[in-house]
Amino acid sequence: MAPTQGPRAPLEFGGPLGAAALLLLLPATMFHLLLAARSGPARLLGPPASLPGLEALWSPRALLLWLAWLGLQAALYLLPARKVAEGQELKDKSRLRYPINGNPIYDFFLGRELNPRICFFDFKYFCELRPGLIGWVLINLALLMKEAELRGSPSLAMWLVNGFQLLYVGDALWHEEAILTTMDITHDGFGFMLAFGDIAWVPFTYSLQAQFLLHHPQPLGLPMASVICLINAIGYYIFRGANSQKNTFRKNPSDPRVAGLETISTATGRKLLVSGWWGMVRHPNYLGDLIMALAWSLPCGVSHLLPYFYLLYFTALLVHREARDERQCLQKYGLAWQEYCRRVPYRIMPYIY
Ligand code: NDP
Repeated sequence: MAPTQGPRAPLEFGGPLGAAALLLLLPATMFHLLLAARSGPARLLGPPASLPGLEALWSPRALLLWLAWLGLQAALYLLPARKVAEGQELKDKSRLRYPINGNPIYDFFLGRELNPRICFFDFKYFCELRPGLIGWVLINLALLMKEAELRGSPSLAMWLVNGFQLLYVGDALWHEEAILTTMDITHDGFGFMLAFGDIAWVPFTYSLQAQFLLHHPQPLGLPMASVICLINAIGYYIFRGANSQKNTFRKNPSDPRVAGLETISTATGRKLLVSGWWGMVRHPNYLGDLIMALAWSLPCGVSHLLPYFYLLYFTALLVHREARDERQCLQKYGLAWQEYCRRVPYRIMPYIY
């Protein structure tokens, strides 16, 4: 008798067609944003003012610097003196994987290999946190210094954008271990989406506000700056509180910080939190992240849409990510997840979504 095939995972990102479109769209959008940020009109929509010639896009020095940056990060990553943490158990532990029925474009985009490694060098984990995320902060800092060179001192708006994003990256590095339970590590393969996303998209489009400010200085008074700082602080408080609560709970449900929270039991033996941050909405960490995204754009004023690109893109990303996560949780937890959705009806924003 022929062995029966298990249910195939549904295609994500619009399948091969969606993956093909994103392969072209993501690099094109990144270039567009960078060119628009330095053009006079700084239009988010419409063509950038002028396309640079090929010679402006190719620089052996820039390539060398980039390779040196990657090499430095790889050397630091391989340093022997570091803590070693255990990741999640692989879902396909007892099953063989057959590379049939694959679509080359879809597979190239999402990646077939979940944990590509050479000895101790884990490519996905390395790319998630190091070259791109730290590179983002370095690019921001370079833009701040360039502004000081051009105008005598960095503007208040540039300080805020640098400070907020440094806090975000510092937080990610400080809580490095928490990345092991994120979807990127446990579910997504290491394909174009994560490789391009981590190494190119994050440092170059996440620094868009600082790029915009360098070319389009914005006046910002102390009272408005204080309000923006407060918005960022509220966002960070929710983001950190929610992420830490879940991580603590997943590591040790009897930890006194989470032991008093209400939970739902699931058939897998794992429990779901239904009070605390995770009783407010089903993704409180996304809500905090979005509030911070707003605070990063506000120092750029309201004259242009371009610096709000991150907020718009990130809202779309998190709404899509939330839907993907819900699908996976429904598969994992079945009735218990339905009960959770009944008890906590809103996904990201209380009473709105
Ligand atoms: P999450 O940290 O939101 O984790 C989702 C998982 O948490 C679920 O699959 C489930 O996994 C568990 N979970 C869900 N509900 C509950 C509950 N009620 N009780 C206990 N566990 C629950 O995943 P992400 O990887 O999407 O996000 C991590 C962080 O990274 C977020 O703060 C997000 O905002 C941020 N992020 C930032 C990006 C950026 O570009 N700046 C991009 C993407 C994410 P299980 O039950 O198996 O533990």
